[in-house]
Amino acid sequence: MTILHTPQEVREALKGHSNIGFVPTMGALHQGHLSLIQKARAQNDIVVVSIFVNPTQFLEGEDFDKYPKKLEADIKICKVANVDYIFVPNISDMYTTLDEVLIKAPKVKGYILEGHFRPGHFDGVLQIVLKLFNIVKPQRAYFGKKDAQQLYLIKQMVKDLFLDIEIVACDIVRDKNGLALSSRNSYLSAQEIQQALSISKALKLALQLSTTIKDVNKIKEEMLKVLQIDVQYIAFVDEEFNPLDTVQHKTTVLIAGYVGTTRLIDNMTIN
Ligand code: AMP
Repeated sequence: MTILHTPQEVREALKGHSNIGFVPTMGALHQGHLSLIQKARAQNDIVVVSIFVNPTQFLEGEDFDKYPKKLEADIKICKVANVDYIFVPNISDMYTTLDEVLIKAPKVKGYILEGHFRPGHFDGVLQIVLKLFNIVKPQRAYFGKKDAQQLYLIKQMVKDLFLDIEIVACDIVRDKNGLALSSRNSYLSAQEIQQALSISKALKLALQLSTTIKDVNKIKEEMLKVLQIDVQYIAFVDEEFNPLDTVQHKTTVLIAGYVGTTRLIDNMTIN
């Protein structure tokens, strides 16, 4: 496994390869990331993992400065998972000018739900993902369903900008109690973990109720009774991320909110 630091190093290392699987991450790797890496390993000759805490997707006052950093441990995880290359750039390698060409997330789908509470977040996500795609030039890129709106928007970017990359969606990995794994879970106290567990409980409840109740507002009411977090939104969306009032086939139920000062998101899909 080789650690690469600059876009030029990546280009040189990957020259001539045409079966590259790419897993972009912000590091502090856990089993969720590992599941993406394993899928990439199974489907490609070369696996590239990037570790970059991207400043442009954090809003003023968010946790950019304190975002968990565990590079040593991340390197070990990648080595064990048989990753070929880790790309760990500096901010100045990825952003070379202050006045650069920008990518805008779509005005509607990029500014509802996560985009409503984190306006501009997806502009930054799409900007960095496009840069990384252009550096690594993967045939396939792996993203978790945990960040469902991000996954949707990346698929849309690939389509809208005619990128020749297959986006592979990977299932959410949870701990044995149902908590969706997240690098941000390391911020939680033991008591907050208990409160955070109410998120997956509320989602499971929504899935159960949806077999008999189709009215989204009625299901939301029941979810709010079990949620022990400071809810920002509960939303039901179709596969195109259109908000729904009535449950239909393949509806995704999303929750976002705060447990103490930690913001968590999760979702489940009704099949
Ligand atoms: P992050 O490092 O949080 O930016 O995440 C990098 C990638 O891992 C994204 O595509 C996430 O959706 C994915 N991911 C994060 N947590 C999980 C999880 N619990 N299960 C599956 N994928 C995940």
